[in-house]
Amino acid sequence: MSQKPVRVRFAPSPTGPLHMGGVRTALYNYLFAKKHNGTFIIRIEDTDQTRFVPGTQQYIMDALEWCGIMPTEGPGLGGEYGPYVQSERKDMYKPYAEQLIANESAYYAFDTAEELEKVREQAKAMGMASWQYNVVTRTSLRNSLTLPADEVKRLLDAGEPYVIRMKMPRNRDIRFEDNIRGWVVVNTNNLDDKVLFKSDGMPTYHLANIVDDHLMKISHVIRGEEWLPSAPLHVLLYEAFGWEAPEFAHLPLLLKPDGNGKLSKRDGDRLGFPVFPTNWTTAEGEVYSGYRENGYFPEAFVNMLALLGWNPGNNKEIFSLEELVEAFSLERVSKSGAKFDAEKTKWFQQTYLRATDDSVLADMLSQELTETYDKDVLTNVCRLMKERATFLKDILIEGAYLLNKPTSYDQQTIDKKWKEDTSAILKEWFTQLEAISDFTAENIETAFKSFLESKGLGIGAVLPNFRLLITGTGMGPSMFEICAFLGKAECVERMNIGFGKINK
Ligand code: GLU
Repeated sequence: MSQKPVRVRFAPSPTGPLHMGGVRTALYNYLFAKKHNGTFIIRIEDTDQTRFVPGTQQYIMDALEWCGIMPTEGPGLGGEYGPYVQSERKDMYKPYAEQLIANESAYYAFDTAEELEKVREQAKAMGMASWQYNVVTRTSLRNSLTLPADEVKRLLDAGEPYVIRMKMPRNRDIRFEDNIRGWVVVNTNNLDDKVLFKSDGMPTYHLANIVDDHLMKISHVIRGEEWLPSAPLHVLLYEAFGWEAPEFAHLPLLLKPDGNGKLSKRDGDRLGFPVFPTNWTTAEGEVYSGYRENGYFPEAFVNMLALLGWNPGNNKEIFSLEELVEAFSLERVSKSGAKFDAEKTKWFQQTYLRATDDSVLADMLSQELTETYDKDVLTNVCRLMKERATFLKDILIEGAYLLNKPTSYDQQTIDKKWKEDTSAILKEWFTQLEAISDFTAENIETAFKSFLESKGLGIGAVLPNFRLLITGTGMGPSMFEICAFLGKAECVERMNIGFGKINK
């Protein structure tokens, strides 16, 4: 690895909300920066104004904040290399494009959209699959390589629209070492003369990206695999400017859980899981759901994402952000696509929920409730129910009877368990229960066991029905804990109500 200070950037285009693949790219950049005491930067690449979607930049910043992986340089964050939004740097790029013209790495092209369309059509008619503006075709098009110098000057002086294109060298192998993929070799004959500067006065992604990575002293470019085909052009651009190229690391794609394609924004709501970190509402009012709004903890989401394409080299799966920083390395990022697993994602959430302190969960819960409950009550609800929950809301759904008397009684349990003699047995147990003076879970359990013993009854004949009377459900955490939590008076009251309501 180079000895330069580590400076990495996440460079999203504000063309829509940040998909979880984008969050993973940001995360790996964050982890890499922290691991090497470097700087994590965010740069907004908005040179393609036609694809601009309002609200995206704010969405991205909010999402990164929710994930706890905020950059330290970027729009609104400060830093010495700003502005960090490319449209605000607009005037910076043209001299660089002209520098490439001057050193013959690029050229002016005056072909109009109609002219190019015509050439494309002709190529198609001749059976050519796809036409490219390249080392061969440029020799018969209207550009500063084919037109006489005075004609070029005349066109430029007359303000004729033009673009600046990369002059791809003929038949050269471009080599670079990718931190994840190893050596990559691409022959320039397979590359076209990409537009670097557009007729609207804006640079394209390629030019702006290289100029900014250079000016912002980026040491490592860590980005999605979809940019790998652009990397040879980028390497050539660094060479043409006489700049040292950063190191590259192209991350594997995130794949759909079903099939092999790339995970797309439509997959989530189709397959019932979120694809976005937080909810995104389109201008048309269509809502794409987010992990945050689905009740995921950011720590669980981030932990899951970290392992989607990277592995620690052992079986450890639960990592705090600090542990991820410690363990992360680009060498352990895989080359092949990572298949998203919605069930595993839930498992991460469940694991994080269970590992969270009852009193912390209680505080989170009280923020979601409209009624106010005593902190102790909520803490106990969390203690009793968190093993049965994946999301915070499950605690309330599963444990509703801990806060309110049951309003119905599970019919399946009644059908299966409530027999002829059940009422009589439970009434006897009821008398025993009422007689317990120190109403602790332990004492209730002891009394219950000796009751069963004295009657020669099995647990299955009494406990489910007892649960039914107190909670209305057929399953749940320890009944003795539940009773101790509710208190004797409440249990007595609930049993009395239950006897009146369960008829068979
Ligand atoms: N603006 C590009 C994107 O939207 C960034 C590619 C890169 O990181 O170089 O993903």
